[in-house]
Amino acid sequence: MRTWAVLGSGSSGNSYLFSDGSSAILIDQGYSVASLKRRLAHFSTTVEAVEAVFVTHLHPDHVRGVGTLARMHHVPVWMHTKAVEAQRQVVSNLNIPAGLLHTVDPFEVIEVGPFSVFCFETSHDSAGSVGWVVAHEGRQYMVLTDAGVTDEVQKSLAREAEVLFLEANYDREMLKNGPYPPPLKARIASKGGHLSNDEALTFLAESGFSGSHVYFIHISDTNNSVPLLEAAARISSPVPFTVCAKGACYGVVGS
Ligand SMILES: [Zn+2]
Ligand SMILES: [Zn+2]
Repeated sequence: MRTWAVLGSGSSGNSYLFSDGSSAILIDQGYSVASLKRRLAHFSTTVEAVEAVFVTHLHPDHVRGVGTLARMHHVPVWMHTKAVEAQRQVVSNLNIPAGLLHTVDPFEVIEVGPFSVFCFETSHDSAGSVGWVVAHEGRQYMVLTDAGVTDEVQKSLAREAEVLFLEANYDREMLKNGPYPPPLKARIASKGGHLSNDEALTFLAESGFSGSHVYFIHISDTNNSVPLLEAAARISSPVPFTVCAKGACYGVVGS
């Protein structure tokens, strides 16, 4: 893999890039095409190189831009079958041209260029939510975001991964004492919500992840703090890590 990147993550938009230098794929596309182009340019990649988008779930911060990308650049979109069947109106509103929308079941492997891609189920309040694994030249890159709880399947996938993109959405105390109304606090902390810093770090330890790098993603700017998460991860992360502040781009451009 020449490049892997967090083009941006958080409630205002999410997208992840994987590229071998000529072929590129995205996980999620929560940005306008103009914003996506600017973000890709950080990693010397053009929108023309993007050969497919794989969707984690149908919340707007993850899919806002998939329809325009598909219509303007004829990029095929892959979604979990269950998401399409359970949320037909939401999918229809994305206005993805017929023929560019494809469905896939968990662990069904899709080959795009040099990449083999499959999804696994996640616990979130959008039917058919999944995470994705991108395999390239024997290495696996795993995106696990928007998950209220984790499971053993995800831990075993993380154990096999070289690079992990892992949600750390909120600090438990900041959420509890923060400004959100009680029902929203309860939703975020629920099984259908998001992973806390504690939960992310526990997942990391319990999975036995021994790859080269972990990116902490989907950080709340209301209920979390980058320095706080960095301090906690310095103590307990077994591998080098990056805390991805909301909206900003992080990643690696290989040679
Ligand atoms: Zn999200
Ligand atoms: Zn979500």
